[in-house]
Amino acid sequence: MNTNYQQILDEIYAETRPMLGQGRVADYIPALAKVNPRQYGIAIHTLSGEAFQVGDARVPFSIQSISKVFVLAMVFGRIGETLWTRVGREPSGNAFNSLVQLETENGIPRNPFINAGALVCTDHLVSQTSDPLLNILSFVRMLSNNPKVGFNEEVAESERQTGFRNAALINLMKSFGNIENDVDEVLKVYFHQCALMLDCHDLARAFLFLANRGINPWNGEQILTTSQAKRVNALMQVCGLYDDSGEFAFTVGLPGKSGVGGGIVAVIPNLLSICVWSPALNSHGTSLVGMKALELFTTKTGISIF
Ligand code: GLU
Repeated sequence: MNTNYQQILDEIYAETRPMLGQGRVADYIPALAKVNPRQYGIAIHTLSGEAFQVGDARVPFSIQSISKVFVLAMVFGRIGETLWTRVGREPSGNAFNSLVQLETENGIPRNPFINAGALVCTDHLVSQTSDPLLNILSFVRMLSNNPKVGFNEEVAESERQTGFRNAALINLMKSFGNIENDVDEVLKVYFHQCALMLDCHDLARAFLFLANRGINPWNGEQILTTSQAKRVNALMQVCGLYDDSGEFAFTVGLPGKSGVGGGIVAVIPNLLSICVWSPALNSHGTSLVGMKALELFTTKTGISIF
């Protein structure tokens, strides 16, 4: 096992930079289409308190679906196993915004990371809290230890204007009785959580509780039980990269979550969390350079959960 993390990050950065220019930014959300695709950063936080970074690791970006892990943790921590009556735990094998399975499976989404499942989690949060947006902000600010974390209103508005598939998904679920609140209210929260802006350094830091049996290492607070943290990691392993999850398990071999803003966060239980960001995506909506960087990371460190 090679734990010379800074040297490894520098090597990965040098080896993968020539790939910049491949892939495409998420142009189905107009505000994301404007992002410079050549940006690239990586950051690591270890449970022993060390931090390492390379490239654009301090440039905030739209975390998009990585936010689904935060909202899942908030809801799962509050209501526990009841959550699984309204959302499943199986990979979908379909695109993140697919409508097909939802109709045949009676409005119960396959898992909390496809958009339909995330909308159910957000609906739970809207039911449970009087100010869900403030709750999300406080949670992510606490985990990242950055009080400046905020929503990018331009991205949220851009998603609202073009989120036709998300509107279709939530209305279909509402017709099956699987959404409790007003669909526009839930969509507003969902578009804002996707529009959270964090950099690689803060995002890796915010995920460290999942490498630490559910305990926030920065203040000792138990965010999830040990069992719940294992379950969130298991879900990230099998569903965190949608229809790229098999490929990610095969080439990287870590629990991870991607977002169409080009970020990917992964955790190595009991050791560290790592965040990679580069906005250009492959055809499954995964950061192209990010996926390669994480593959090189587990190869060069020799660390594996298998
Ligand atoms: N806001 C995006 C959407 O709803 C999230 C998708 C993603 O990051 O995978 O389409």
